[in-house]
This record gives sequence, structure tokens and C-alpha cells, in this order.
Amino acid sequence: MPEATHFIGNRWVAPAKRGGTSAMSPLSPLSPLSANTANTVIAVIDPSDGLPFTEIARGDAEDIDRAVSAARAAFNGDWGRTAAAERGRTLYAFASLLARHQEALAQLEARDTGKPLKQARADAAAIVRYFEFYAGAADKLHGETIPYQQGFTVFTVREPHGVTGHIIPWNYPLQIFGRSVAAALATGNACVVKPAEDACLSLLRVADLSLEAGLPPGALNIVTGYGAEAGAALARHPGIDHISFTGSPATGTLISQMAAENHTPVTLELGGKSPQIIFADADLDAVMPVVVNAIVQNAGQTCSAGSRLLVERDAYEVVLARLAEAFAHLRVGPSHDDLDLGPLINAKQQQRVWDFLSEAQHDGIAVMSQGEVVGSAPEAGFYQAPTLLRDVPDTHRLAREEVFGPVLAAMPFADEADAVRLANGTLYGLAAGVWTRDGARQMRLARDIRAGQVFINNYGAGGGVELPFGGMKHSGHGREKGFEALYGFTTLKTVAIRHG
Ligand code: ADP
Repeated sequence: MPEATHFIGNRWVAPAKRGGTSAMSPLSPLSPLSANTANTVIAVIDPSDGLPFTEIARGDAEDIDRAVSAARAAFNGDWGRTAAAERGRTLYAFASLLARHQEALAQLEARDTGKPLKQARADAAAIVRYFEFYAGAADKLHGETIPYQQGFTVFTVREPHGVTGHIIPWNYPLQIFGRSVAAALATGNACVVKPAEDACLSLLRVADLSLEAGLPPGALNIVTGYGAEAGAALARHPGIDHISFTGSPATGTLISQMAAENHTPVTLELGGKSPQIIFADADLDAVMPVVVNAIVQNAGQTCSAGSRLLVERDAYEVVLARLAEAFAHLRVGPSHDDLDLGPLINAKQQQRVWDFLSEAQHDGIAVMSQGEVVGSAPEAGFYQAPTLLRDVPDTHRLAREEVFGPVLAAMPFADEADAVRLANGTLYGLAAGVWTRDGARQMRLARDIRAGQVFINNYGAGGGVELPFGGMKHSGHGREKGFEALYGFTTLKTVAIRHG
């Protein structure tokens, strides 16, 4: 029976606590639940019905240590010596394999995360694009020569950090693995990945495909397990040269503190409370589907979810009436029913959303409209109807904190200055959507909003492989995606030669 294993040095390896190695992929076929591996496995729950259906390895510090050693050997060996163009070719082969297995990856992602199949398909398409994009970029990053004193030649070299650690959240495993690992590999790093305990099956399948793509042993390693065990061991490991983390602000703070023990550089993407700002002159037909999608996509469990709706007072009632109508038609159900929304990831997340909603009710915030959880949704699944709340005071927790669920907090604004004040009025600064036909106002808001991405008359919700993405303020620092990510996954060396 295949056991739950890690992927280290191109082999499927049982957790150190269990000893031994296994040659089989843990997912071929999905391993049934076992009885004799207590403490070395974690049950995987299907969010659509709340039932366990397979298990993954529970990694610890020793497993992380083995993965870091394998990555170091790859960096000092075959992978580190691979020419940039050749790295690009390997990544392109990887992208092609991912494309060929796109549908299987999407099916696995949908079941594991609970997201509707169409969203999982978009995620599987995105990981292919990330590997294509960074395959092409691998040999296009270079240093500069710098004019200096007479008799000197000075140039800079962009070098990989070495061994990079990647701590991945459960909301978009395929996409976030793609954006971070493809860029790290393209620049010549060797990677140790710790996916989220709640959703990592698709990434184990991706690891299987990396074997076929010809990635040398140790270039990519995956250790599954809990954050406080495997994740913390990775963040504080002295053999890690860079950490990229996407997840909650609280965990981001812990990661920063742990990484600081070794002065390991960190890229953090920590979520937001991103505003959709609608002026009265906006094209409302264009606004509606985008604003709805920005909060219901992935059941609102998206860092860049458009979770605050700021509407110019003159248009407030019209916009809210149209949105209420749209929300009332949204349907929530199991991932395989492929409706507008799937369940939330787990019971803890569901409880978190309930807590926010009961606080809203307690504080007299009105629910203006809600979608429907369909009758066929199993009782034990983690469902939440999308909810539109109106007149949320800008001082309320619902207007300031990330719910990470399908809850949209609407409030009116008086004028442009008020809109900017509200938009910038939280600790976050990840993304913003601005809807207006006034060109000068578009430019002013693009300038004045403190966010890593500002979308005018559209909203990317994190999409766009080519577009640098990351936060200001408590939304994090560093940029992933686009060409910009290549700078984050490299370090700069200056070489000064005095030759007379
Ligand atoms: P959530 O609380 O919704 O699970 P997290 O931000 O805690 O979100 O999780 C994102 C990723 O961070 C996951 O891979 C998780 O295992 C990992 N993680 C959680 N806690 C820690 C920790 N203390 N140290 C390192 N990684 C962690």
C-alpha cells in the first residue's frame, strides 16, 4: 500500500519518524486511509462533505533537514551548474507536461480545496503559464556595467540565493506554487516547499511530473506537514537562503521572526481588505460581474478579494440594488457540482466567517442579500452563502479586517477625497479597483492609493502571471509574479576590477 510520503531528492520518502524510503508516488492511486501510521500522517478532508479521503505525510524538522540537504547538494551540483538557457528548456518541458495533465490537476485541486471545477481549471491553466513565463525569462536576467573611476571595470551579477524555502497556503496551491517556485527555479535556486496541510495533493502530483520533466534530484523538494512543525522548521533552518511565504498576517509575523534568527531574507504576501471604488459615472454594466467575481471567487478565500465596496453616494442605492439581485442568484455547492462557489476550506475557516457575521448582526449591520446553499450540499461540508452587508461603518472590524470568506462590506463615500481616505483607511494595501470614466481622476487615484496593484475599470484579483504582485503596509513586502519576481529570487554581487 503506498504510504504518505515526502518528495526529497527525486524520491518519495517516508517521514523520518517512520524510517525507510518508498519508490511509489503517494497519489498513484490516492492512498487509502491506513491504520498503522499514527502520528506520521495527516488525514485529508474533502471540504465538500467534511469526510477524510486520503492522507499525507506529517513532516517534522528532520524531514525538512533532509530536504534542505538535498536542495543544497543540487545547488552545489548539477542544478547549480546548469546554464540559464538549459534551465529554461527544462522548465519549458515541465510546463508542457503540466499542460498535458492540466485536467487531472484541476480535478485534484477541486476536490482537495473544495473550489468549483471551473476555478480549479483556471488555476491549473495558471501554473502552466507560470512555468512557461519563467522558462522564457530564465536566460534574460543579467547584471550591468557601472561607470566608475579611471582604471576600473565594475559590473554586477545576479546570482540565485541558493536554497529557497516556499511556504504555500491552501487557497491556491497550484497558482502560488507556480508563481513562487517557477521564478525561483528559473533563477537557479533549489527549492524546498512546505504546502499547506489543508491542501497539497495537486503539488504532490506536480512533483511527480517534475521527475518526468527531467529536473535533477534535489532541485525541487516537497515536505508536507503542519505549519507549526514542518513550516516552522523550514522558516528557521540555517541552511535556507530565502523564504517566500503567502498566508495570514499572524503567521507572516512568526515567519519573519524565525527567519530573522538567521537573517534570512523573506518575501511576504499577507492578504488584504481590498476596496472596489465605484464612482457615479462608472459603467455599471461592466462593474457588476467583476465586483461580484472579486468577492465570490474561491468563496472569498483570496488574498486580493475585493472585500470592501466603496460607492459614491449618488450611485449607492442603484449599485446596491443591482448587487443584491446578483448575490441572490449565486449558488453554493460541492466542488464537483461546479456552481458559483464551493465550500470554505475547513471548519475553522467556516467558524471564523460565522463569527464575523454574528458580530455584524449584533452590531445592527444589515444583510442586504445572500446567495443560496443548494439542497444537495452535504450537511457536514463547510458551506457559507455569499453575503452582502450594507452601511458598514468604516471603523467596524468588517470594514478593516480580512474575513477570508464571501462577505462584501458596502459603504458610501462623499467625494474623491473621501474615497481615497476610506481606501487607504486599513492596515492593508494589496490591491484596489477603481471604476470611473474620468481620465484625470483615474490617474489621481492610481497615484494616491497605497496598494501594490491598482486596477482601473477592471479587477485582476491576483490574476495576470506577467503582473508584479505584492503588498504595501501589512499586506507584506517583496513582489512575486512578472519579471520583477526574478529580482526577489536573486541577490546582487558587485565585481570591481582595477586594471589600470
Ligand atoms: P491559516 O491560518 O488559514 O491556515 P496560515 O497563514 O497559518 O493560514 O497558513 C499558510 C501556510 O503557513 C501553511 O502552509 C501553513 O502550514 C503554514 N504555517 C502555519 N503556521 C506556521 C508556522 N508557525 N511556521 C511556519 N509555517 C506555518
